Amino acid sequence: MSQIIVPQAFNKETADAVVIGGGIVGAATAFWLSKAGLRVILVEKRDGLSSLTTAASAECFRTQFTEKAMADLALPSVEMFENFKNIVGLSDIDIGITQKGYLFVTDDPETVPDLERAIKQYDLLGVPGSELITGDDLHKRFPFLAPGALAASFNNRDGWISTHETTYGFAKGSKNARFFIRTLVTGLNTDGDGICGVETDKGTIHTRMVVNCAGPYAKIIGKMAGIDLPFSTVRRQKAFIKTSSKNVPSNAPFTVDLNNHGYWRPEAGGVLCAWVDPEERETAPSDEPATDWDFAAESIHRASRLNPFFENIAEELKADDIDVSAGFYVYTPDDKPVIGPCDEVKGLHLNCGYWCGVMMAPGAGKRVADIATGKMDDKDNPLRYSRFKEGDFEKGDTFLK
Ligand SMILES: Cc1cc2nc3c(=O)[nH]c(=O)nc-3n(C[C@H](O)[C@H](O)[C@H](O)COP(=O)(O)OP(=O)(O)OC[C@H]3O[C@@H](n4cnc5c(N)ncnc54)[C@H](O)[C@@H]3O)c2cc1C
Repeated sequence: MSQIIVPQAFNKETADAVVIGGGIVGAATAFWLSKAGLRVILVEKRDGLSSLTTAASAECFRTQFTEKAMADLALPSVEMFENFKNIVGLSDIDIGITQKGYLFVTDDPETVPDLERAIKQYDLLGVPGSELITGDDLHKRFPFLAPGALAASFNNRDGWISTHETTYGFAKGSKNARFFIRTLVTGLNTDGDGICGVETDKGTIHTRMVVNCAGPYAKIIGKMAGIDLPFSTVRRQKAFIKTSSKNVPSNAPFTVDLNNHGYWRPEAGGVLCAWVDPEERETAPSDEPATDWDFAAESIHRASRLNPFFENIAEELKADDIDVSAGFYVYTPDDKPVIGPCDEVKGLHLNCGYWCGVMMAPGAGKRVADIATGKMDDKDNPLRYSRFKEGDFEKGDTFLK
């Protein structure tokens, strides 16, 4: 069983691997490295795990990716969510998996061919169970949609989880791993053989392997090792709206309006809704990003277009019923994460650059461990860091990123 501790000052800690960052990505990485037999220390500066971007997320996962590199990571991750108790070896963990699907909807005839193309691509990539649903069938199955909705792609296997339980499940299921909270990484040490230690505000940890899972701070951790990761951090917000309105379809899937970047899903006691603003500028990461006073109203307005029951919610809404939170998406030049060793600094591994880290964390953590222990060759890893130097990447065309 792992230990989650606030360490006293130390001077002689050693580990086979140090994972920086205690979000869902770091916890999954620590789990898989410890399962591979490594002695792991995870270092998290905050008071607990799963408390920064992971806590700000909408907690959703999906299989519907049109890019092979992403589908190949998403599919095993979903499988791990489905079999979580067995994977982590804990019978009393409940990650609250809810599989009501992802529904990408359009009311614009010009977008329908995009959906048709996406469905064909899912089939080609071996993503099972995606359907194109149109016309009356769409309204019969999802009667909450506005009459103008024309078509949607749907996969019933997609859904959401409790990220808190999942992160702590990975941590508790890790054998031979220690989780140091309230411990800030301040530097990385190198010698002629690459990484040799991690400096923290509690002392130095001697190690030959570091995995950068620092979420929005991954670029700053990269700089500590002298590398300039090509990442940009963009603030993203979401609104929880408390409502007991009978009009909310509590069985609805995660529903995305393909034409206005809005999305929503049912949540205990209300709904989550948000929109991904394509004009939002890159900003420096912070632990307490500000939220916009009008974000909830704008999200409700966007959701109402294809989900008219939101109009009823808006009519009855009180300020106390609204809770807006924010975190950061991290974008890379091809909008895909970076996983595996950094060829420029021996011993430095990466598992960062996510706008979708929740849904990819289980598979990505395993991939880090598989490459580190020689089970997978980094050359066969399409998400390797060196792809940017090699020019072996292209921007993806997946919906809602
Ligand atoms: C509004 C919103 C909605 C989202 N919805 C989804 C969704 O539905 N599905 C999905 O897959 N993704 C979603 N995302 C993205 C997702 O939340 C992130 O990709 C994911 O949480 C990243 O996890 P992480 O562990 O890499 O990062 P984090 O959770 O940010 O963890 C990184 C940790 O590193 C720690 N750290 C950083 N620097 C240091 C240091 N120097 N020393 C010690 N510790 C350090 C931080 O304190 C932090 O706890 C959403 C994001 C937002 C903002």
